[in-house]
Amino acid sequence: KRVQAFVRVKPTAHFAQDMIKLGSDNKSIDIYIRKSPRGGAVNNSQTDWSFKLDGLLHNTSQEMVYETVAKDLVSKALQGYNGTIMCYGQTGAGKTYTMTGATSDYRRRGIIPRAIQQIFKAAAEFLNVLVTVRISYLEIYNEALFDLLAPGLARGCRDTQLAVRDGPQGVYVKGLSIHPVNHEEEALHLLFEAGETNRVIGEHTLNKNSSRSHCIFTLYIECRSRDYTNLKCLKSKITLIDLAGSERLSKTGSEGQVRVEASYINKSLSFLEQLVIALADPKREHIPFRQSKLTHVLKDSLGGNCNTVLVTNIYGEAAHVEETLSSLRFATRMNWVTAEPVPNEPFYREASVKALEEEIQLLKRELFMQNHLVNHSFMSYKPLTTAQREEIRSQVQKYLRGVIKEIDIVNVRQIQEVFRQFKVIVSQQEEEVEYRLRSKYGLRHRDSAAKSDSEAESIDGDEDSEQEEDEEAQEGSPPVSPIPGGKKEAKKGDEQLVKEGGGSPPPETGQDESSPLKSPTKDLDEEEEGCHQDSDEEASISSSEEYSQKPRSPPSKQEAFELFKKEAGREIHRIFRENKRILISRKKRSHSVAHMINHNKQRMERVTEALEAQKRKQRQEGEFMDEKGRVIINEKELSLILKLKELKEEHRAGFAELQDLKAEIQYCQQLVDKCRKRLISEFEIWYNESFLIPEHVREALQPGGNIRPGMIPTNRVMCLDEDEQDRFERMQETVLPECPGSVSFYRARMKTDQKHTFNRTMAALRKMRRKPGLVTAAGKKKALSFLPIT
Ligand code: ADP
Ligand code: MG
Repeated sequence: KRVQAFVRVKPTAHFAQDMIKLGSDNKSIDIYIRKSPRGGAVNNSQTDWSFKLDGLLHNTSQEMVYETVAKDLVSKALQGYNGTIMCYGQTGAGKTYTMTGATSDYRRRGIIPRAIQQIFKAAAEFLNVLVTVRISYLEIYNEALFDLLAPGLARGCRDTQLAVRDGPQGVYVKGLSIHPVNHEEEALHLLFEAGETNRVIGEHTLNKNSSRSHCIFTLYIECRSRDYTNLKCLKSKITLIDLAGSERLSKTGSEGQVRVEASYINKSLSFLEQLVIALADPKREHIPFRQSKLTHVLKDSLGGNCNTVLVTNIYGEAAHVEETLSSLRFATRMNWVTAEPVPNEPFYREASVKALEEEIQLLKRELFMQNHLVNHSFMSYKPLTTAQREEIRSQVQKYLRGVIKEIDIVNVRQIQEVFRQFKVIVSQQEEEVEYRLRSKYGLRHRDSAAKSDSEAESIDGDEDSEQEEDEEAQEGSPPVSPIPGGKKEAKKGDEQLVKEGGGSPPPETGQDESSPLKSPTKDLDEEEEGCHQDSDEEASISSSEEYSQKPRSPPSKQEAFELFKKEAGREIHRIFRENKRILISRKKRSHSVAHMINHNKQRMERVTEALEAQKRKQRQEGEFMDEKGRVIINEKELSLILKLKELKEEHRAGFAELQDLKAEIQYCQQLVDKCRKRLISEFEIWYNESFLIPEHVREALQPGGNIRPGMIPTNRVMCLDEDEQDRFERMQETVLPECPGSVSFYRARMKTDQKHTFNRTMAALRKMRRKPGLVTAAGKKKALSFLPIT
């Protein structure tokens, strides 16, 4: 097997197509350079080079690069194989991007964070294997060693105590700190912090230039069985190397200090090249590992028994083609190096007496069970009695509490009952957890929610149909033509319309009232229909205090709205419900009045018809006159006339009431709409202030603080403290739904930034203390952003 060599081309808009030809097999790459003598005409002699490697990574995402280059190597490491990935290439060609990647963007993270993630993910999936991970981060600069993870002040400083040593288990760096990490976030935090420290030191203190140093990140993995009796352990390590820039000294033309650095780099890189040539030659006996610190450190990470991968980073532009050519030569030489990966020898933990005793006990029990099964002495084919079930239940509980260590197996029914009891306990716990979470987050409990929903629904249904009838009665068949002069006697209920504004004074907020608030409005409408329910508060709602005490991601608007109605918005919500109730009672009244009017109308028609018929009959029979010559109306006709009169009167009254009701309904509807808007806008303000504004700004907003609620639009308040933490939190919100695996990455990133901001601010404060006159307003304001961290 050979060392694998890949080429990654840095994306460019000016790819030198006529100089660099990428093969369609995605493995070969040809370089054409037309040599033109200085100042002379183009000499047509063309020089070609052809390289064939293990793969070309052109326009390839970080994820694809990882899949191609590292994924397999990392899973092999979990099986005991050592692995090495090395990035080689000119400064700026993308070595660090490939190895570490963007530390603020999860999707553009590089090989190191991805390898960490893969290991912890796999570790979590192993059932019987316990994986422990440790990391170290070494930098080699000018033949000096730096521990990038050293604790405290020593971090990133030259440490003369560090030395490369050959030990019985291979090469190691004496004095280099190795950190056990329990989870992904911890490892990433260390990685990010090292990067941060190194950047700062590079910029200010040592004038260290990252393009001239080699960085070696090592993951030490140990796998062992969780089971006491299996003492076999596997150890492996993954070495991830970001080499210094490979550009030649002649081209940099640097002088003085920089020249010294450049020559050092060249030396250690050319030693590496010599080493690679030696490794590629099967006849070579002596391999010059100890020529430089770099080659010495890499002694058991190159070829040999480990999986080795080289990524050569190249530019695609014509200007860099000479360097590209030399990088490809290195890649080819590396590709010649053979490797014979073998898993590391397992080693054995010492067997403890206790473990052996346990093993003997287990075997004895198994033997015992075998005997009994053979003798059928415990076999029972009868269903379990209640007492037996009860006994098993208590046994399971004792087992869970740790009172008994094992549950002895007796027969199939017993085993089944044991499992059944476990199931019961698990489901009880699930319910309990759900109950607690719901209480904690102010959600309604499922049962009560379901209950009130169905109640709301039934009322909802009733009312819907009633309202529909209502509308039909009013619009489908309008009442008879209006009779002027009808008496206007609007029947008022004893309820008084509650005027909006009786609650807290309305703040002048520049809130956009027209902004629709999707979910709470929907919720509100649902509730409107069910507003006949009493307004008894549900006890399960937790207070918003809980949210403000512990910073966590804000609750959904839907949940928060429920909370708001019970607390800050209680009064306005009560007014809203009261008005809504009155509105509905008016609508109902209007509905029954309209119904009555229509009914009357029909009766009037019938009476009129009867009267007409009576009159016709009377005319045929001849009319009676009294002594004064007036027409005498017979009794039947009279009663009809009186009936008609009464009906008309009733109709007039009903119509007048209906008119009044319509006016009232209109007014009431306006109030309800106003209340609803107010409720929503107050909720918006409350929501922003409770959950979205940073703690210290919220403090300033408190009574006695220097900002009054509503004085400035909330979106402006949000900008007051736009620091890195906010930025990452917001980015996390957008990225998280798509990449659920990114939590650790962003948490680690945030921690690093917080720490960095804190240090920066403390340094600034110390400076200010020295020059007291210099405390500026801006400085004071900045102090706000770090105080909560302490
Ligand atoms: P090197 O470590 O080789 O000196 P860097 O990795 O620091 O180079 O890359 C230099 C710049 O180019 C960085 O800003 C990096 O983000 C960018 N870069 C390198 N490779 C890529 C790539 N494949 N895609 C996008 N940006 C890249
Ligand atoms: Mg770099």
